[in-house]
Amino acid sequence: MKTTMGNGFPATAAHWLATLPTDFLASLTTAGAVLGVAIAIEARVPHARAPSAKHAWFNVRYMFAMLVLLALLRPFALGVALGITQTLGGGWVTFREGAAGWCEAFAAVLLTTDLLEYLFHRAQHRFAVLWRMHELHHSATHYDVTLGYRHFWLEPLIKTALLYPLVGIVFKTPTGVGMAVGMVFLVNHHVAHMNLRFSPRRFTLLVSHPQYHRLHHSRHAADYNRNFCDLLPLWDVVFGTLHRPRPDEFVEIGLDSHAAPRSIGDALLWPWRRESRASSAASGPAATAEAAVSGLAERR
Ligand SMILES: [Zn+2]
Ligand SMILES: [Zn+2]
Repeated sequence: MKTTMGNGFPATAAHWLATLPTDFLASLTTAGAVLGVAIAIEARVPHARAPSAKHAWFNVRYMFAMLVLLALLRPFALGVALGITQTLGGGWVTFREGAAGWCEAFAAVLLTTDLLEYLFHRAQHRFAVLWRMHELHHSATHYDVTLGYRHFWLEPLIKTALLYPLVGIVFKTPTGVGMAVGMVFLVNHHVAHMNLRFSPRRFTLLVSHPQYHRLHHSRHAADYNRNFCDLLPLWDVVFGTLHRPRPDEFVEIGLDSHAAPRSIGDALLWPWRRESRASSAASGPAATAEAAVSGLAERR
């Protein structure tokens, strides 16, 4: 019996419903395992102890709600991705057979995905509609691995539907390449957000690390629009957005406005709640419009 149309998109509503618990549990198990290891490491060599576990507990509860939503909606994002690749055709560039070809494909997909991540992140800080979502990630005031899950739930769906298919359009990749690249980004995303007292003296610009990405979360205007890369600082060097951290540089993080979600519901509806709150706090139409985009202005 055919249960999917390929690329994970369910052929029927019944199949979609049947796979929901499995998808959710798989995501939860992966997140729980990686978070568990990361939290154990953070406990041994933290950069700073959190005043309480409140913020981490908030991020974990939000993660739980987000994973439910992603299990529900990911098949539709995959459907859009599948439609795009089928319409435009996939695999313009092919690779040699064998181990050498596999390694070339791995390097090509990794570099291309990381470049797309970099450009999308620049767009998130450039365009108001994307910043309203991304602002949730920047609203955290304590830096630790749970922050890696504090992303507005629509963002990973947008990437799945519109960003990652571009890689599939360009490259015809051997089996296992996509999964291997995905694992690298998964581990890197967790490591980059860890609360670690670690400042590499050498190879600072080889891959992103906690001190490097922490600067991107800085509350200080002088650090805004720096260190956008996901994995490779190479892109920050190429596009002129690099801030090389000094050995003792562990900046305060958060938003100038101190805006932060007050509940999980608030976080799940962040772009709309944030805007209506900014509007009601302002007086008069001009002030309302100004307040609505104030967060973006802070980061430009
Ligand atoms: Zn950002
Ligand atoms: Zn971050």
